[in-house]
Amino acid sequence: MKNFVLLPLLAVLLAAPAFAADPPPPAPAPAAASGSDTTGTWWGQAAWIITTPGGAKIAIDPWLDNPVAPKLDKPTALDAILLTHGHFDHVGGAAELAKKTGAKLIATLELTQLLGVPDAVGAEIGGTITVKDATIHIVEALHSSGYVADKDKGGPKYGGSPVGYVIEIPKGPVIYHAGDTDVFSGMALIAERYHPTFGMLPIGGHFTMDPTGAALAAKMLKLKTVIPMHYGTYPVLKGTPDELTAALKKQKVPAKVMEFRSGISQTLKQ
Ligand SMILES: [Zn+2]
Repeated sequence: MKNFVLLPLLAVLLAAPAFAADPPPPAPAPAAASGSDTTGTWWGQAAWIITTPGGAKIAIDPWLDNPVAPKLDKPTALDAILLTHGHFDHVGGAAELAKKTGAKLIATLELTQLLGVPDAVGAEIGGTITVKDATIHIVEALHSSGYVADKDKGGPKYGGSPVGYVIEIPKGPVIYHAGDTDVFSGMALIAERYHPTFGMLPIGGHFTMDPTGAALAAKMLKLKTVIPMHYGTYPVLKGTPDELTAALKKQKVPAKVMEFRSGISQTLKQ
């Protein structure tokens, strides 16, 4: 008789560890659903779309029709578009994109005037603009910034200074987008003022710094993570992420390389 009582009890006891090891799946965390992370999506060249925990969606240098652009639908809603300089591979279709998405177009005063976008925000190096939870600082870059509106109607027009951007996100990272530039001593000042943790740095060479220069930039900026960009779009942009990794090692820079593929989003979290 005893076995009739014990066997069901034994069955329950044996099953108990299985229940403990395999709990019901937790309900989806509301934080994840509301986008508590900062994410970056690379569109090739220097084009990025950043989303912040506060819901800001910011495009940088949106040349979304570049040769290595992903086959994704273009964004239909954006809060801001940042332009680093007037060259076609950075301006892309910014004016049209601003119109379609309702984004605030941010660039140097001269470039906003050349683009003729109503309500664009012209600002200069040293300026700070707030977009939702993102605080955006405009910083220097070593490059040029001519803008060609129409090839048939003459050469480039003066687009102001080339710039870079530092984006501070309160519950996220501090992201530096260098624009097109060589390494310059002012990067030490950017590190001192804004403490960027992620640096989107051009590595292709020819028009910008190469992997060796980018490794030195990462050192001066005291970056934790380097995100290489502006390479591989054309054969002349020869630098590679592997060369960047080797250059960081050679120069004993502790920053790690975070490689993106065009169209793939990754969380920007240290
Ligand atoms: Zn460029």
